[in-house]
Amino acid sequence: MSTGFFWDERSFWHSGGNYAGNLPVGGLVQPLAAGGLPESPETKRRLKNLIDVTGLSKDLVTRSAPEADRDMLARVHPTAFLDDFKRVSDAGGGELGLRTPFGQGGYELAALSAGLSVGAMRAVLTGELTNAYALSRPPGHHCLPDFPNGFCLLANLAIAIRTMQAEGLARRIAVLDWDVHHGNGTEAVFIEDPNVLTISIHQERNYPIDTGDADVRGIGAAEGTNINVPLAPGGGHRTYLEAMERIALPAIRAFEPEIIVIANGYDAALIDPLSCMLATADTFRQMTKMVKDLAGDICNGRLMMAHEGGYSEVYVPFCGHAVLEEMSGSKITAPDPLAETFAARQPNAKMDAVFSAHLAELAGYFGI
Ligand SMILES: [Zn+2]
Repeated sequence: MSTGFFWDERSFWHSGGNYAGNLPVGGLVQPLAAGGLPESPETKRRLKNLIDVTGLSKDLVTRSAPEADRDMLARVHPTAFLDDFKRVSDAGGGELGLRTPFGQGGYELAALSAGLSVGAMRAVLTGELTNAYALSRPPGHHCLPDFPNGFCLLANLAIAIRTMQAEGLARRIAVLDWDVHHGNGTEAVFIEDPNVLTISIHQERNYPIDTGDADVRGIGAAEGTNINVPLAPGGGHRTYLEAMERIALPAIRAFEPEIIVIANGYDAALIDPLSCMLATADTFRQMTKMVKDLAGDICNGRLMMAHEGGYSEVYVPFCGHAVLEEMSGSKITAPDPLAETFAARQPNAKMDAVFSAHLAELAGYFGI
């Protein structure tokens, strides 16, 4: 039993441009003292720091991975887009899509982020590691083949999945995206592929504002292999666990994948600045336990996670620590300092019942 933790200091050097939160600086938008997009290096660096301070990193196999090469990237992205990205990156940086600024060398940093996901997924599928976590930055789940958006410059997980398929390491793969935002990029890449199940649990009408509806089910032979679980703002710990139990877990079990892949964002957390959901570190711990147990049942424990969103510099490290404790079975803990406060702020029973009725309706719609 061994858990990999794939990271690289250079991932933290990706630069997010002249933004104040989500807004470009200019007009009436004053620059922030500590400027940049919400997707700053700090949440991820502080997770790495926390596992070093507690000693959890000693219970993990920590390593980097090579940049994803051009052939890997071209399995998902058109060559014209890759050429543009490389040219602008070499010329000092810029922005090609929506809220995806990058600096000099941004192309190589994004390829490294994808490479960390490739390395983690490959190590699990070759049996070298039982499961693995990729601290990929910049994130990937919003990136469309030809349009980077939502802080995502390359489609990290899609690149890794297509590479595993090309190398003959896996054919049927399930992706569960519990980042609070819709996994529109992953959905777009696999919408016609019956061999890749894509599930996204997200806050409805958050980002992107016009995708993620439950009636997008897959196209042609892939009908039924895309499942969107949009949640109204305010869903908390119980709602997330119920979405897992009622929809995500049975759908993955029925699909019989060779590996379970998680697009793991921590931005459904109660304190996150980019969402209105009420999950806690324990929510992420319990969801991890669920997918780990399921992987143990159906695919020899093969489980891989890529880090996506999560914008509370203070809280993300505790969520990530809980996830890595569960993945590895380590006894080294980092107790959530906000557990009591956030437990008190959960929805009341009446609100939970409303969310529960919505999930029951969705499960019926999906035939689960
Ligand atoms: Zn997100």
